[in-house]
Amino acid sequence: MAYDDTNIFAGILRGEIPAVRVYEDDRTLAMLDIMPQSVGHTLVLPKSAAENIFDIDPDSAASVIRTTRLVACAIRSAFQPEGMLLQQFNGAVAGQTVFHFHMHIVPRYENQPLRGHSHNAVDSELLEQHAEKIRSALTLIPDSS
Ligand code: 5GP
Repeated sequence: MAYDDTNIFAGILRGEIPAVRVYEDDRTLAMLDIMPQSVGHTLVLPKSAAENIFDIDPDSAASVIRTTRLVACAIRSAFQPEGMLLQQFNGAVAGQTVFHFHMHIVPRYENQPLRGHSHNAVDSELLEQHAEKIRSALTLIPDSS
């Protein structure tokens, strides 16, 4: 199926819809998930139009992984989770709800079950506080320039 640029992440990338951004470069954007499954849940998007793992160009995929690693390091430093889950869904039947490729970075905390996927929106002020911690941590990670 052809990429549909009316999806919400395409709107965010065009600057039409607000997002709590934590990192951005020429090829990728990292922003907090508005319905986080845990504190620090972040999404990494390619700026190129791609719906899933099957149509993303390899260079954009590599850039997403590079940003994912960088932001995951910052999240670990900011919130000290005991683990970090990376997830990426392809197709509605696999759980994809927004049809612009994205990687989930989901910090895992000991004895804290994950909240549901796409369930409870969090107050934007709280998200902004979390984002500020991640942005600060990013300045201390090598290769974040
Ligand atoms: P998917 O199921 O497609 O992998 O996940 C989409 C994710 O995007 C969900 O975790 C959901 O909470 C998140 N999400 C949905 N709408 C928005 C939005 O407008 N802004 C942000 N930052 N995240 C969103």
